[in-house]
Amino acid sequence: MAPVTTRAVLLRGHDYGDTSRILRFFTKDHGLVSVIARGVRGRSGKGATTLATFASGDLTVYMKAQRDLHTMKDFACAATRDELAAHLLRFSAASAAAELVLSHAEADPQPGVFDTLESGLDALGVAEPGVLPGTALAVLWTITESFGFAPQLDGCVRCDEPLDDEEVGRFDFSAGGMRCAECSEDAAGPRVGPIARTQLVTLLAGQVPVGLSHTRRHLGLVSDFIAYHVVSRPLKSLRFLGSMLPSDDAEMPVG
Ligand SMILES: [Zn+2]
Repeated sequence: MAPVTTRAVLLRGHDYGDTSRILRFFTKDHGLVSVIARGVRGRSGKGATTLATFASGDLTVYMKAQRDLHTMKDFACAATRDELAAHLLRFSAASAAAELVLSHAEADPQPGVFDTLESGLDALGVAEPGVLPGTALAVLWTITESFGFAPQLDGCVRCDEPLDDEEVGRFDFSAGGMRCAECSEDAAGPRVGPIARTQLVTLLAGQVPVGLSHTRRHLGLVSDFIAYHVVSRPLKSLRFLGSMLPSDDAEMPVG
């Protein structure tokens, strides 16, 4: 059986037996891949330190059809991303991105999701503390969009009328986007005004909006959107990430 090599990022691992580890990689060519890495804990130095969570590199693996667990031959680490582990907010944002991918991806290739995850982890690694909450939101929204789920923000999800520049509506999670002001009268979702709407567009483009505030409310939006459309349950790491963000002292900016 010939091994295959694919670009991969390590998302989760646990010890197995005395010297091995079970590792879950998200790969560019094969989606989620679980491997047993035999003997890696017995090795000193390189093998152990480069098999750290969020490390990227070329994974070589013996893949058997109809199997869930494959055998790792080698992992040539290209980036360890140590900087994510050195900062709690960075680490919790990266963990939320990993949980999102682990919860929805399967064993088929989604190269767009792979590239979005990698650039998101890189962005979290270099973001200054002041823009980290916004970077975390941008990473979560772009991964969500790369899976094929994006909120509808420019037209009402109920009546299809375009929202005007000053319009304050409500977010309708089950319908997956904004309701116009008129259709929001009997709706219960969070109020979202033009500033927040513009911020969402910027976050979906992978950028941090200038002057972004109310990051907990923004996190609530992306968390509930993910729970409704992507993984059908709240992600644990998002709750932890929320506890690390600055508390919001007012409603989402609506004016
Ligand atoms: Zn409407």
